[in-house]
Amino acid sequence: MTKLYAIYGASGCGRSLMPVARQQLAREHDASEIVFIDDAFAQQSAVNGRRAMNYSAFKAEPAAEKAVLIAVANSRVREKLARQLALDGIQLWSVQADNCVIMDEVQIAAGAALSPFVTIASNIKIGKCFHANLYSYVEHDCVIGDFVTFAPGVKCNGNIHIEDHAYIGAGAMIKQGAPGQPLVIGRGAIVGMGAVVTRSVPAGAVVVGNPARIVEQK
Ligand code: UDP
Repeated sequence: MTKLYAIYGASGCGRSLMPVARQQLAREHDASEIVFIDDAFAQQSAVNGRRAMNYSAFKAEPAAEKAVLIAVANSRVREKLARQLALDGIQLWSVQADNCVIMDEVQIAAGAALSPFVTIASNIKIGKCFHANLYSYVEHDCVIGDFVTFAPGVKCNGNIHIEDHAYIGAGAMIKQGAPGQPLVIGRGAIVGMGAVVTRSVPAGAVVVGNPARIVEQK
């Protein structure tokens, strides 16, 4: 029996990642079907020409093997869905666009989505379910935790550590750290779009502006 792939989430994030997922399978010469999973669908439906169904219906599909990319921008939702998939013994799927550039000694854990024009430079470690949206980059010697999200055009320079569940808004720029003295974006921090981050951001802080300043501390 065949393998069935799915994109979990058929909203903006999922619909933009479907073409990336198609490129992933085409590179692997794998002709398997890719469907959408979205719990908003009570009945089997179609989105952009692909079958779309809720998670129960997906579980009932008769494929021998299944793999799922979680394409939901909210990292807490990604974590919840990843936990459910693990409980059900369904593997996380990672996809990257054909034109991504991945340099040397890069480790990326399961469930990553690397959109078109993303660059991951050398000596980088990235955790589970990372999303790097269009035109984002990660420069050398960065360490990125689990469930981190980059909106489009994030410039993450060298020697930066980003902890779990941080969200970096569109076009934000983060100053490089130094070897042994990384600039740290703390767990669950939010960097506003277009922010210019020149120093470490505490866990749970929301920063905006140039230079980025804390506007909220959770
Ligand atoms: N969703 C789901 N199951 C969940 C949580 C979310 O199917 O447990 C779906 C939800 O119905 C929506 C999508 O995931 O279609 C999330 O899309 P959202 O509009 O929040 O933004 P996006 O992540 O696409 O930017």
